[in-house]
Amino acid sequence: MKFVRAMYADDSFYGELCGQTVKRLAHSPYSGIVYDGREYPLALVRLLAPAEPTKIVAIGKNYRAHADEMGEGQPPEPLLFLKPSTCVIGFGDDVVYPDISHRLDYEGELGVVIGKLCRNVKSGESASVIFGYTCLNDVTARDIQKSDMQWTRGKGFDTFCPIGPHIETELDAMNVSIETRLNGEVRQRSTTSLMTHGIDALICYITQVMTLLPGDIIATGTPEGIGSMQRGDVVEVEIGGIGVLRNRIV
Ligand code: MG
Repeated sequence: MKFVRAMYADDSFYGELCGQTVKRLAHSPYSGIVYDGREYPLALVRLLAPAEPTKIVAIGKNYRAHADEMGEGQPPEPLLFLKPSTCVIGFGDDVVYPDISHRLDYEGELGVVIGKLCRNVKSGESASVIFGYTCLNDVTARDIQKSDMQWTRGKGFDTFCPIGPHIETELDAMNVSIETRLNGEVRQRSTTSLMTHGIDALICYITQVMTLLPGDIIATGTPEGIGSMQRGDVVEVEIGGIGVLRNRIV
């Protein structure tokens, strides 16, 4: 199933996307799928970010080839950082190039959307806490990331976490293609099977530290091929079995 958040006549809501129709839900899908009876043609709604996370837990250098291109070695354990919830934008929303940065990068990633409150998840038991998957762009002010001792500023600007276009709940995410295009030109092409730490291991590792809540998102790391964007560029992240997330840089 595909789930969206959408806006129609200044009213925002969760919905199930069925072909070209959005079936409105009575509340978020995490506590059960309850339809309220209203339906809208997809063309008449504006898609919003499909989740409203309290936090985005992101993983640094989780693909060996990307760790190699960064030239900083691969961390022995998952390297966690947080992006604030205020980073999140949806399909078609603009990424704002900060005036104080001079190097803005895309990072195409698989986003895991959590479906229930969880802590201390045991190995092999993460499937029950995953709601679904979405495309994610871990937009990064690379110059600021490198000049600071940590990544909060470089990864934390408003609009730096596009997600969408929807959440796919029926995906085997172990081996799906991930591709990032800049103005239609392929810049990253890999598969999630090349992650160093898989999704189950990441959820166990993260929930040893912090409780994850419904709607929270894990950004599972980017493959090799990172590069910069300019104002006016259009960036796309496409994940096999999900779809295409498209945003413009302004
Ligand atoms: Mg990243």
